[in-house]
Amino acid sequence: MKRGFLKNGTRSQKQFGDKPPSPVRAPQSTPSSQSAAIMNTTCVYSTSPCIVRADIRLPESSHFLYLPAGRPADMVFVDTLASVKKIAKWPVWSQPPPVMPSPRPFRVELAPGKGVGMFANRLIKAGELIMMERPVYASRRRRYCAPDQNEANGIFHRAAISGLSGSSRQALMALKNSYGSDYDVVFGILTTNFLPIDITEEPDPDNDFLGCFPTLSRANHDCCPSANYFFSFAPYCGQFWAVRDIPKDAEITISYASLVASRAERQKRLLDIHKFTCTCNTCTLPAQAVQRSDARREEIAEISARSATSAASTGMSKKRVLNAMKYVEEEGLVAASVQMQMYAASFFMHQLDFAEGVRWMKKAKKSMLTVEGEDSYGLKAFKGLDPVLS
Ligand SMILES: [Zn+2]
Repeated sequence: MKRGFLKNGTRSQKQFGDKPPSPVRAPQSTPSSQSAAIMNTTCVYSTSPCIVRADIRLPESSHFLYLPAGRPADMVFVDTLASVKKIAKWPVWSQPPPVMPSPRPFRVELAPGKGVGMFANRLIKAGELIMMERPVYASRRRRYCAPDQNEANGIFHRAAISGLSGSSRQALMALKNSYGSDYDVVFGILTTNFLPIDITEEPDPDNDFLGCFPTLSRANHDCCPSANYFFSFAPYCGQFWAVRDIPKDAEITISYASLVASRAERQKRLLDIHKFTCTCNTCTLPAQAVQRSDARREEIAEISARSATSAASTGMSKKRVLNAMKYVEEEGLVAASVQMQMYAASFFMHQLDFAEGVRWMKKAKKSMLTVEGEDSYGLKAFKGLDPVLS
């Protein structure tokens, strides 16, 4: 399960490990070879729900589930047959997707040097839900397909989107493609725009899915983002939450890279996977200021990593904990503050300073509400502590 506030909003980080995909020099991608390969797909169930096997030649190949059942498909879900049969029965599909109140607090327009981006139409307050929507394409990260269905010809993905409604396909195809001509355009669009999604609320090491969204996937990256991406399982929606006040006309940004990685690590990942060089305020600081920023983020990363171990407070001092909290503020990493506040709470509890422990727990609870809203999985864990924390 991909919880953890430091990495929320990270776009498809593990999709290719630490390396970008290598283009596979596959059979030339011609319209006739593509339709021939799409012909290899077969309908497993043609009515509600519609499930299609990606490749008739491979019984174990991935399957495409089109949702909602019985209507033009807004979304395709890609996974094993057993999994999509289960997913098809989720009660959530009988409910209409949540609708955001009108007018939306943002617009999508050209962002100089970045293609398009999302911009605030008015002051958006910290903790406000900016946008929520369901993905048009959701897939297990690891898919099973034949070797002749590859990144260069995009046959697999083209077959998957062929069952979508015209408007959903159009919305997907309108997204940015940062990959060059060595790759199929549908593969490029999906890879450029994937965000991580969860398909279960239970801990599950195989819960490793990606989703592509018509609007959320438009947001650009910043190493000090103004919004946090959160996937809420209950309505099956991706959500953007404002992590600080966003002034009218300011850009709404999320993070595609780990918030606590150094500038060099962030730049490498953004260039390898997303094909751009970040010129955000943090990345363009003078060299010495970048060093200080890297040192602060490194300390936050180290302390956050400790929070999951039994030696969490070994060698730790109150001064170091409070300093790290200051670093989180200085770097403007609001989403990272949750994990740090939780760490501070457990540190002070270990020191038998219960009053201070509870104080940090209250702060963490408030931050969770700001960056993930009422559906926050962390908030649910606080339920039993409400009498202490209220
Ligand atoms: Zn940057």
